[in-house]
Amino acid sequence: MLDKRMEDALNDQVNAEFFAAYLYLAMSAYFESKSLPGVAQWLQIQYREELTHAQRIYLHIVERGGRVKLKALEEPPVEWDSPLAAFEAAYGHETKVTGMINDLISLADELKDHASRSFLMWFVDEQVEEEASADEIVQKMKLVGSDSAGLFMVDQEMSKRVYNPPVDLGVFGGQ
Ligand code: MG
Repeated sequence: MLDKRMEDALNDQVNAEFFAAYLYLAMSAYFESKSLPGVAQWLQIQYREELTHAQRIYLHIVERGGRVKLKALEEPPVEWDSPLAAFEAAYGHETKVTGMINDLISLADELKDHASRSFLMWFVDEQVEEEASADEIVQKMKLVGSDSAGLFMVDQEMSKRVYNPPVDLGVFGGQ
């Protein structure tokens, strides 16, 4: 059975993951408006991945006999000052999520909730990847700046990303 404090914190994490999905989807729409469909597609995949993060936590709450509580989502921005500014915002949100995961692990330790700790370790590894990929794109965007030929090349490269639904989530992973 989940401790109430852990249940509340996990529900907050579900919200943060859904917000991340919403943020990436808003960014995708922004890049569509900038005629950079490859970046937009990369962000659509990122959006779907974030949904599966929320699903993972949702399932953990249910499996542990907790109660899922879905909270209101914050409205993401519509516009950013530049492609660089958009990815800097994404990187900023990822570092915030990493901090939340670390706090959840500290709470799991305090509550001697070994099952939650074990479950959360997956997210520790995932956040290393998320921060690294957001930072890599920030660096690329810094390099190209507002150069349209450079942006075109980044767009082409980012269009190659393929979505791999997580097999362990079954129907919750999406297709
Ligand atoms: Mg996430």
